[in-house]
Amino acid sequence: MICQGCLKESEKGYCPKCRKELFEGKKVSTELSFNSPYDEDSDAFLDHTKKISISGVQVKYSLRLENNDLKLTERGGQYILKPIPTGTFKYLDQAPANEHLTMQIAKQVFKLSVPPNALIFFKDGSPAYLVRRFDQTESGKIQQEDFAQIAQMTSETHGENYKYDLSYEEIAELIKKYIPTQRIENEKFFRLILFNYVFSNGDAHLKNFSAIQSAQGDYVLTPAYDLLCTRIHSPSESDMALTLFKDGFSKAYESYGFYTYQDFYEFGQLIGIQKSRIKKIIAEFTEPHELVYFLIGRSFLKDQLKTTYTTCYEDKVARLGMMRS
Ligand SMILES: [Zn+2]
Repeated sequence: MICQGCLKESEKGYCPKCRKELFEGKKVSTELSFNSPYDEDSDAFLDHTKKISISGVQVKYSLRLENNDLKLTERGGQYILKPIPTGTFKYLDQAPANEHLTMQIAKQVFKLSVPPNALIFFKDGSPAYLVRRFDQTESGKIQQEDFAQIAQMTSETHGENYKYDLSYEEIAELIKKYIPTQRIENEKFFRLILFNYVFSNGDAHLKNFSAIQSAQGDYVLTPAYDLLCTRIHSPSESDMALTLFKDGFSKAYESYGFYTYQDFYEFGQLIGIQKSRIKKIIAEFTEPHELVYFLIGRSFLKDQLKTTYTTCYEDKVARLGMMRS
């Protein structure tokens, strides 16, 4: 069978490696002991949970590990559980599989820092995305701020669309200002922006980037979160949630209508990365990877959407390869 964590072969349930990463080695079932919140008979959610809003509009629940069981909890949650979102977007029942696949590609193919995550099923068979919280330790919650908070932007100060009110260049400026190890963090940020572009994550707004206090007391970027191919659910949305540059678009963008190699090359320079490093990093994204196809094939997306996901990926790889001088 397929491990619902890493998507590799597993004898039974989550493979030993995923069990270790996710559950301290415990044999946790791939099925939760309670029904989804949409099940009319489900009362598990009534008294136990307040909806936690960490970011975005999706309802998320907090879980903790008790012996070998994942239980809903109000306090001290070690995991976030994201069931099928509600709303008017397409194929929302596929969103948990989409996020799980995209996070696994980020981790396994592009070596982005992501928290341990897996797909899990409610008792009624409905899927959910499960992810370990990175802001919780034995000794409590670690100080963390998203870039809307860092920029001091709220709906009161910047209107309803405040999460979309800066460019990626301006986030990089904030990184420069507030993160002492910005040279390292800049490359992390650059790779994440490229990843979001190539995997059609069109909702990477200000609140989907955060900084967290390190053990040394200074701030670093958090692991990446909320990565998914949003184009599947919202085919007409723009390629990126924020513009790359604070001052409009390049000539190439104006003639093609989308970002190409040149834009990202310029962006890399603007945020202070060496040219040779920029080339090396973009090159990781301009070649199609066998492992991406493998993971798509093994994912829990339904076949039709595996095809859509693949098409989106190939389309973006092709765009990123254009205007390479
Ligand atoms: Zn595994």
